[in-house]
Amino acid sequence: MANLFRNIENLKGVGKARAAKYQKLGISTPYELFFHFPKNYIDYTNPTAVADAPDNEYCVIKCMIIKKSTPQLIRKGLTIYKALAADSYGSEITVTIFNNYYLAEMLSENHEYYLYGKITENPVTSKKEIHSPQIMKTGSSELISPVYHLTEGLTNNIIRTNMTEALKILENEPVEILPCNIIFENNLMILTDAFKNIHFPSDMDTLKKARYRLAFDELLKLQLGMLMLKKRNRQKTGYIMNPEIKTDEFTENLPFELTSAQKKAADEIISDMCRSEPMNRLLQGDVGSGKTAVAACAVYFAYKNNCQSALMAPTEILAVQHYNTLSSYLEPFGIKVCLLTGSLPQKQKSEIKAGIKNGDYSLIVGTHAIIQKTTEYNNLGLVITDEQHRFGVAQRNALAMKGESPHKLVMSATPIPRTLGLIIYGDLDISVLNELPKGRIPVETYAVTGKLRQRAFSFIKKHLDEGRQAYIVCPMIEDSDSDLQSVCSYAEKISGNEFKNYRVGLLHGKMSPAEKDSTMAEFKNGNIDLLVCTTVIEVGVDVPNAVIMLIENSERFGLSQLHQLRGRVGRGREKSYCILITDNVSEDTLHRVRVMSSTSDGFKISEEDLKTRGPGDFFGQKQHGLPDLRIADISSDMELVRLTQKTASSIIENDPELEKPEHGALRIEVIRLFSRSENSSFD
Ligand code: ADP
Ligand code: MG
Repeated sequence: MANLFRNIENLKGVGKARAAKYQKLGISTPYELFFHFPKNYIDYTNPTAVADAPDNEYCVIKCMIIKKSTPQLIRKGLTIYKALAADSYGSEITVTIFNNYYLAEMLSENHEYYLYGKITENPVTSKKEIHSPQIMKTGSSELISPVYHLTEGLTNNIIRTNMTEALKILENEPVEILPCNIIFENNLMILTDAFKNIHFPSDMDTLKKARYRLAFDELLKLQLGMLMLKKRNRQKTGYIMNPEIKTDEFTENLPFELTSAQKKAADEIISDMCRSEPMNRLLQGDVGSGKTAVAACAVYFAYKNNCQSALMAPTEILAVQHYNTLSSYLEPFGIKVCLLTGSLPQKQKSEIKAGIKNGDYSLIVGTHAIIQKTTEYNNLGLVITDEQHRFGVAQRNALAMKGESPHKLVMSATPIPRTLGLIIYGDLDISVLNELPKGRIPVETYAVTGKLRQRAFSFIKKHLDEGRQAYIVCPMIEDSDSDLQSVCSYAEKISGNEFKNYRVGLLHGKMSPAEKDSTMAEFKNGNIDLLVCTTVIEVGVDVPNAVIMLIENSERFGLSQLHQLRGRVGRGREKSYCILITDNVSEDTLHRVRVMSSTSDGFKISEEDLKTRGPGDFFGQKQHGLPDLRIADISSDMELVRLTQKTASSIIENDPELEKPEHGALRIEVIRLFSRSENSSFD
């Protein structure tokens, strides 16, 4: 067997014990070790003059060792090695090494070295000192040296040594996973060289090329995987609908006229559903753009075609809200809607499930409960998931397995930046609601410190007196040691004081679903004036009479989250306000506040969010169910995302399952990449 793919314990210098440590990093072969990319590099090629080295910072200097002193045994277990050194300008510096005989022995008098370490200036003698530096001989070929993520028992030096050994295998066993034409067309470094140079670059330019090649591969594999999923979804549907059926009767009966963006999206959806392959579409629209009404149109159309529809929401609150809204739209047309959530009593659940199975219900609204094995459908032709990023790719597919390849519509309230969208939704067609319903007034946003809280309260009261409603959002549920505002004590405090003449409600994630529903219903009916809540109201909640949102400790929320929260107001015809309270003056907070006050464009905000937080953080956790990216950075590599998407499409077009011999290696890697991710949909 090729050495590259043998157990890493066989690699010279590794052995069983270290192999176990590598296992912790997910590395079991030399080949996998190559993907343990450096987190950064020490660049010895541009040393700083000793005189210019900033105090207390890490620096590379180039010095001659003038004199090594006798080691000092300070006490048992502490030996200090010192040497006097000087750079080419004659500036002297003391090299101090604690307890490391081996390191000290690397230095010989009258030889020149690169040293990398923290440099300090002794306040008494004003002599400079460098502490336990990394040492590199001046003639070394490794002048840009890798710095790795470490795990217990694996030092940087061990990894470096093992990596060097692993890379030697490539001399006899070169690897390549891409067909030649792709390498040439894209002017890529060959893979063997890329591995060598990502770990031990000969210069910065070569490093850049190596990184580009590896990022190219990573994005290509990712998109190949997504496209393969997409193709697999493109089997024939059992529900080809009839384009002659009209939806005018339904849309004319809505309480408003659809915007042209809504009409266009509905048309796209309907025409998808009339084709022989199942629809696989994303409906993307900023908060408040009216996705629900579009979904309702699709449900109506499916009903007229004798098909059931299911709508899955990420939270019970949202499921209930959808159930209410959609019932009011659809029941006048005789469409029976049911609500199926995890918290229903068993008996009721069984009854509803029986009704779903025998086709009593034409629309099933619910949470995860609707994808459980025990939920059987009668003729499920349309599956809608709301707030898609909360579900992984796998869950989305699980629901689709319920029927004979039903049509799928996913709705996303989070405007995903284009780059990320290309990747996450690579397997979907996209309709965009790029227009808000008429008459919306942008939400005015202010950021203030806690000193102005009372004024904000008066401002809220003024609006409550006019019959409007408001939210106050706090980051925590219960009091903790920190200064963070907790909803429970906050609600108690203000309902006894500032807001004692108002009806104050409390809503948070630890309440039972029934309590949450009833509080939400009360707020919606106007029986609660002021709702103190956590981010449970973040997604989807729609109460147009609520016109102010005050957010406590707003520094705790990311940009996209603030945008989602703010989207709960400004949904009606009244002018709305968002007040961000924070006593935090960090640059980062100020930046977020500035972005929030200057724009209400969800796309801009999410691009900004992606830039500052990176894609890993973007969804809070790994909610998108995509494989981790190790080297490509989707927030900055937009061009590369496009390029690899094109390449991936052309590969898949000619070889949908990557079965041709020239794609063999690529196929294995795609499967490996996707099997690393939690929500793997590959066999
Ligand atoms: P989202 O896209 O955030 O899910 P919703 O579907 O909840 O938005 O709609 C937001 C609000 O806008 C709701 O109160 C809804 O009734 C209203 N709405 C939707 N479409 C229109 C329209 N074309 N004209 C006026 N109001 C609309
Ligand atoms: Mg919504």
